[in-house]
Amino acid sequence: MTTEQKFEIFRKTGAYQEGHFLLSSGLHSNVYFQCALVLQYPALATLFCKEIADYFSQFDFETVISPAIGGILVGQEVARLLNKRSIFTERTDGNMTLRRGFHLKKEERVLICEDVVTTAKSSKEVLEVVNASGAIAIGLGSIVDRTKEKLNLDFPFFSSIKIEAETFEPNNCPLCLQNIPYIKPGSRK
Ligand SMILES: [Zn+2]
Repeated sequence: MTTEQKFEIFRKTGAYQEGHFLLSSGLHSNVYFQCALVLQYPALATLFCKEIADYFSQFDFETVISPAIGGILVGQEVARLLNKRSIFTERTDGNMTLRRGFHLKKEERVLICEDVVTTAKSSKEVLEVVNASGAIAIGLGSIVDRTKEKLNLDFPFFSSIKIEAETFEPNNCPLCLQNIPYIKPGSRK
């Protein structure tokens, strides 16, 4: 898929919208992005996850691990395509943990998968879980790369699509200054 084709899919599903938005973080942005609107169509999930799977297909690893909730579908699909095991972490009292009897062996090689990487905060929390188990992270794969700065990781990072978005403090938003009304995505009208 070309980048244009990917954006076309993102626009058609409503996953990618341009305008003036109030994000859940409280910041304003010129772009709204919701990966779940692409992943709701399993065939599209396969299309994007296949790029991650292809990139890591020659890497030596046994297991895919992803943070709940957003990462689960991506991790599951990448694992399905490469015939690996798929597990996920979730938060308990704010801390990322393995629950449900999920377990990593010492020196087990794992690929971390995400839907969207922005600051890589949750990816790094998953990495801490991996390290604490004595397992070894071999890469990070995501559908969308929204990073502003280079991630300092000891392994490769691959994403299917890079999305640039600007965010603004509400009291310093150029779109507000132009009197453009903002939309709060995901909220009911
Ligand atoms: Zn604004």
